[in-house]
Amino acid sequence: MTLYDNHNRPLTYVRLAVTDRCNLRCFYCMPAEGIQYLPKRELLTFEEIERTIALLARLGISKVRLTGGEPFVRMDLMRLIRNLVEIPGVNDLHITTNGVLTAPHVAELKRLGIASVNLSLDTLNADRFKLITRRAEFGPVMRTLELLLKHDIPTKINAVVMEGKNIEDILPLVELTRQQAVEVRFIEEMPFNGEGSHYPTLHWNYARIHSYLKEHFPDLHKIPDPANATATQYAIPGYKGSVGIIAAFSRTFCGTCNRIRITAQGTLKTCLYDEGVLDIRQLLRSGDSDDVITEKLLQAFRQRPKDGFEAEASRSNHLPAHESMSTIGG
Ligand code: SAM
Repeated sequence: MTLYDNHNRPLTYVRLAVTDRCNLRCFYCMPAEGIQYLPKRELLTFEEIERTIALLARLGISKVRLTGGEPFVRMDLMRLIRNLVEIPGVNDLHITTNGVLTAPHVAELKRLGIASVNLSLDTLNADRFKLITRRAEFGPVMRTLELLLKHDIPTKINAVVMEGKNIEDILPLVELTRQQAVEVRFIEEMPFNGEGSHYPTLHWNYARIHSYLKEHFPDLHKIPDPANATATQYAIPGYKGSVGIIAAFSRTFCGTCNRIRITAQGTLKTCLYDEGVLDIRQLLRSGDSDDVITEKLLQAFRQRPKDGFEAEASRSNHLPAHESMSTIGG
């Protein structure tokens, strides 16, 4: 069964933040100090997450991604993963991680049949890593990358492209794909940093990233994108991996968006740029039946904005999106 929204887009994919906490402080995502984390009782419990995912899977949402905050900061995350892979209708489970605490779990992730891991890595230089993330954790992240590749887990590296911070990393990151079957994806910086945009305009949009790549790799050529992909994909002859560009700020892919999001406190977002459209946690905790919750979810799916610009314009405070990505999950 395929579920469609009001714009006739199939809905097949949920991204769920298991926590708002993170062990890094990437400057483009979170302020250095003064973050108000949610009290534990405000997070969805594992049981609540499992019930929500089971209801969504029954509706045809078969792809699940765990994100955060940093998912591995949530205590006992592997117990949740073991349960989620057993839910009928959950066909593939993915995880997005910064890799700091991930390495010890890679072998079990493989055994559990994890479909892919997205590793967030903006630089291959330990000093720049510390400047960007405000933490000295480059070593453990590289160890995670090594193990993911060793265990043949499909791996994507996500790098946000930031003027004055990691432009010198673009070419080395592409070079990684020469020997490794990894997809490196360059992402436009978005305003979700918990404090408002850093720049009046975006320095590195998808077009500039593309021309920079093309200038240095003239053989770079377009390859077919999987259905509903956010990344536009490219290959370089002789390279084992591939390169992608994600126009996350320019929002060029809304017309095929198949995803919904659930924040760490259980708020449904049917667009990254909306301000939350349904309090699932409240429904779960008020004793509503599966049927009632399912109907409320379906109502929300029938009112999706057509794109991220419409979603942002209809925020009740009429302000541009600026909350930290750590509450949304990317
Ligand atoms: N902690 C995990 C990680 O680092 O992958 C999962 C959550 S993190 C919020 C998910 C992704 O969002 C990361 O790849 C991060 O780089 C990206 N992200 C966070 N803030 C962003 C922003 N302002 N613009 C673009 N990407 C952002």
